[in-house]
Amino acid sequence: MPEIFIGDYTAEAKRALNNQVLQHALADLQNRFGRGTALAYQQLPEGPDLRLKAHDIRQNAIANLDVLLDTLADNVRKNGGQVFFAGDAKDAANYCLATARRHEAKLAVKGKSMVSEEIGLNTALLENGIDVAETDLGEYIIQLAGERPSHIIAPAIHKTRTDIGQLFSDKIGISYTDDPPSLTRAARKALREKFLAAGIGFSGCNIACAETGHIVTVSNEGNIRMSTTMPKVHVAIMGMERVAARLEDHDILLRLLCRAAAAQNMGTYVSYIGGPRQANQVDGPEEFHLVILDNGRSRILADEEFREMLCCIRCAACLNVCPVYGKIGGHAYGHPYSGPVGAVVMPLLAGINAAKDLCQGETLCGACQDACPINIDIPRMLLALRAKLAEGDPAWDVSPSSGTEKLFYQMWSWMIRNRSVYDFFLRMASIGQKILPDNNGMIRRLPPPMNGWTKDRDIRPVADESFIKRWKKGL
Ligand code: SF4
Repeated sequence: MPEIFIGDYTAEAKRALNNQVLQHALADLQNRFGRGTALAYQQLPEGPDLRLKAHDIRQNAIANLDVLLDTLADNVRKNGGQVFFAGDAKDAANYCLATARRHEAKLAVKGKSMVSEEIGLNTALLENGIDVAETDLGEYIIQLAGERPSHIIAPAIHKTRTDIGQLFSDKIGISYTDDPPSLTRAARKALREKFLAAGIGFSGCNIACAETGHIVTVSNEGNIRMSTTMPKVHVAIMGMERVAARLEDHDILLRLLCRAAAAQNMGTYVSYIGGPRQANQVDGPEEFHLVILDNGRSRILADEEFREMLCCIRCAACLNVCPVYGKIGGHAYGHPYSGPVGAVVMPLLAGINAAKDLCQGETLCGACQDACPINIDIPRMLLALRAKLAEGDPAWDVSPSSGTEKLFYQMWSWMIRNRSVYDFFLRMASIGQKILPDNNGMIRRLPPPMNGWTKDRDIRPVADESFIKRWKKGL
């Protein structure tokens, strides 16, 4: 049931690189959102430094998580809601399933929620005879196509409007069109029927407020409001880290979240949901449940090196600037988290050895931290993961990398710290390279095991004379 998995990184990356439509879509996404977010931070009255304040807020929340979660649970219960602490993905999915069964729901509607992907909620419901409809337009498209999201905020980024036109024609029976407003109207009409028929609604939670017992959802389509108010039961699922202490923290976090996610001052629909419908209210669910998910987060919390990752609010700003995500897209990272956030979170959740390609594939350029509304030091954690892979770590069940690789890097490290040995190596390399295939002064192909470097590019040859020698001679 749980659906955290690592795919074949290299094969998926190659597939993405050869897909010109995807390459255009990714470039467009990064141009629009990457640049837009940087500008939106600049235009904040407090300037981009507000990110440092947000970092403190999130660090404090994570440091006091036990107290905040108890307070949140107490306040949700006071508001008339029910709270379930799920140890793992299976517990969470089973609770959702049992709630749906108790209310004899035949159809569930869902607002976009990455944590519901993490627990495999759709699979659990479908396998037990409960139909489920994604209601975010991007997620709806992906669900109709039988695919997985390739971006946290823009799940159907890899689809063209022609793809979507064909898909809607095949799956919901409209005449083919690739006109976006017509396609959106068709989706809205189909989804309205689902909202009216659904017996239960599921949502995620962008951030909860401990002092009031509310969860907050942000969307631009209004679909989350429909999913959470029309069915008679609403189940919200949140990772246990997604809580802030006070409402005033939300002011900062939400302003940054919306700028980071979509370069907006504020999302179109921001909903505070604090329990079931009250006697004096005209709409809302009769029952409200909050599922608070651990699923490996306690282990991250216990490790000082990685605790900072729990500050993440899943805005996807780091995806929108990452040069690696910008080329290989989301599917190469496995499921459900991609980009720089996925390169840290997925190894921690799915196993560091199993997901080693993700943290080793990133460039450490630091663009993710600059874009992050919480200023999370992702490069530091990528390096920490790589160190665990090099040395091994029983606490994380990591076996060390191969002895040969380790020996190679130990020799390299020794060599570059010994000038005379390094000069000798450079002399040998400048002589040896003369037999390598040449392409206009560039090396066309390196011999194994270094041939991967020249598979898709030529490499500059070692200079006949080192920079230091030239410097000594006065260049
Ligand atoms: S790491 Fe930062 S930028 Fe990336 S999703 Fe999390 S909060 Fe957003």
